[in-house]
Amino acid sequence: MTPEEQQAFEDKVYAYVGRQVCPPTEAKDGVNASMIRHWAEVMGDTNPAYSDAEWAAASKRGKTIAPPAMMYVWGQEGFAVTTGRPSDAQSDLVELFSEHGFTGVLGTNVRQEYFKEVSPGDSVTMEMVIDNISERKTTGRGTGYFFETLATFTDQHGDRIGTQRFKVLKFIPQEQPAAAASEDKLEVPTRIASPRGHDNKWWWDACDEGKVLIQRCQDCQTLRHPPRPMCGECQSMAWDSIESSLDGEILSHTELHHPKIPGYQYPLVCAVIKLGEGTNLVANVVGCEPADVHIGMRVKGKVEQVDEKTMLPQFYPA
Ligand SMILES: [Zn+2]
Repeated sequence: MTPEEQQAFEDKVYAYVGRQVCPPTEAKDGVNASMIRHWAEVMGDTNPAYSDAEWAAASKRGKTIAPPAMMYVWGQEGFAVTTGRPSDAQSDLVELFSEHGFTGVLGTNVRQEYFKEVSPGDSVTMEMVIDNISERKTTGRGTGYFFETLATFTDQHGDRIGTQRFKVLKFIPQEQPAAAASEDKLEVPTRIASPRGHDNKWWWDACDEGKVLIQRCQDCQTLRHPPRPMCGECQSMAWDSIESSLDGEILSHTELHHPKIPGYQYPLVCAVIKLGEGTNLVANVVGCEPADVHIGMRVKGKVEQVDEKTMLPQFYPA
């Protein structure tokens, strides 16, 4: 974009500030006990002020109230939105950004303020405007603009119940760095990195060096896997490890079909393998047809590189 083009674009963008996204619209359903109960169940909110009529009757209010955070719920259109909705100032603004390359979208903040409680029998009306649009900003996600909608909620008396501000970043997604072309790198997407915490980093570090270790209690010698800080037999926290020979037997197996996860090669067989040392390990079985994998099958493991960053034991028919 030249400076002139940017100016012309921003003139169009900032013309949306103050525009109405939706006129005052009364929710189809009044505030009601069943929606409150469903919401409180889903949220795990057991406050009796919302759903215990008997408790509420004896309380200072004398009746149940709706959770204030439900304010935005009452006016939701429900299933009808799946069949399309008329355009409004917000959808037009989003499209204007997208047409100019600001295709990325990220909801960044929701802020609600509450002024008045509502109870079953009340009705909620919502009105929404585009409240503000930032100047052009460079963020970690890319260059773009923040815009904020402001929804105002009122009850049947015209009293304000609360407001909700919702901030969205529309941005030009950054180019993904092109993968370095190199003969010694596998051209497959990278798997999710192994989680290396205080209690298991050592296991993955050994795997990176081509070894599968099994944790051993230093007091009673019991082996354990996956890694954990305490012996389940004698509660000792003292441990060392032994290296597995990776001789194993399949205890159980399954073939993963769908959804296909990036970074994995298909067909993909996942098995519980009983190692010769006695502990079990979950790993992939490769080097044979999935149909040939069976319970009791003898397998031999090798620690192999499965993507650019990941070393893992894989098991072959013995
Ligand atoms: Zn022990």
